[in-house]
Amino acid sequence: MWPELAQLKADFDQALASAGTDPQRLEEVRIRFAGRKSGALRLLEEQLKRLPKEEKPTFGKELNQLKAYIEEQLAVALAQVRQARGVGEQVDVTLPGRKPALGALHPVTLVRREIEDIFLRMGYSVADGPEVEDDWHNFEALNIPPDHPARDTQDTFYLPGGLLLRTHTSPVQIRTMEAFRPPIRVIIPGRVYRRDSDLRHSPMFHQVEGLVVDEGVSFAHLKATLEAFVHRLFDPSLQVRLRPSFFPFTEPSAEVDITCVLCRGGGCGVCSGSGWVEILGAGMVDPRVFRAVGIDPVRYTGFAFGLGLDRVAMLKYRIPDLRLLFSGDERLLRQFPGGLAR
Ligand SMILES: [Zn+2]
Repeated sequence: MWPELAQLKADFDQALASAGTDPQRLEEVRIRFAGRKSGALRLLEEQLKRLPKEEKPTFGKELNQLKAYIEEQLAVALAQVRQARGVGEQVDVTLPGRKPALGALHPVTLVRREIEDIFLRMGYSVADGPEVEDDWHNFEALNIPPDHPARDTQDTFYLPGGLLLRTHTSPVQIRTMEAFRPPIRVIIPGRVYRRDSDLRHSPMFHQVEGLVVDEGVSFAHLKATLEAFVHRLFDPSLQVRLRPSFFPFTEPSAEVDITCVLCRGGGCGVCSGSGWVEILGAGMVDPRVFRAVGIDPVRYTGFAFGLGLDRVAMLKYRIPDLRLLFSGDERLLRQFPGGLAR
């Protein structure tokens, strides 16, 4: 046998014996002797190419035998390792890895961020307030006195100590006007609570509310703002329609409809065949609200508007049942842009 080959075989036998049944050390032995790039066998193959022609056959033959020997010994050693571990623990290292499931943004969060973005670009800032409110901020300051019928329709969750879960995001309007003087331009996203639960109502839902207070603010500003908003959020071809309405905290007040985004005005189940869907309530801030927070209603005017985030998410993503939004079902979340990865 060629001396280099004999030496290599001796080295291999020794290394293999000392590796025992340690899988990591066996792998090191494999790489050192049979590694494809720079294993000892590979280097001898390079050496073979440079040998004089007459020496090649014998060296090549012995090298092949040594190679077969090393591979066989490694296979035997690995089989022993597997046997020692038990069949159940065999690992098929050729299988692809399992991807961990990634988190995703909820459709209501996606819509909230989009709406915030639209108004931030119009120069608004985002305001926030407590979900546990007092009577003054939730009702009284908003021109809803204790005997006002609006309190019945709101079905409030009352808490001990005269507190309540806010029934709308409007108390944050009051808090904002108490804390800052005009000009004010804010939008207020948040959770609100009412005792109501069916296909279209959940005891907890989301609103976004906007408030603008300054000198010379008119109903035309309100209409233009809402049109710009609706066109940006849905699409510029949608029609916007205002209907006279009543809210205690605005005067005059309007309900705002848009062309049904599902049937484009043709009439369908979502719009009850009318071709329109209501998405907003709005109006000019009632002077009594200004007086409650100490803003001069002669000098200043303002407008306010509010919409249900969940309803917008349902329209935008064509979700048929409001309760799906709060079901925590991953199958729903996977359907949205950037939704849960499998
Ligand atoms: Zn429709």
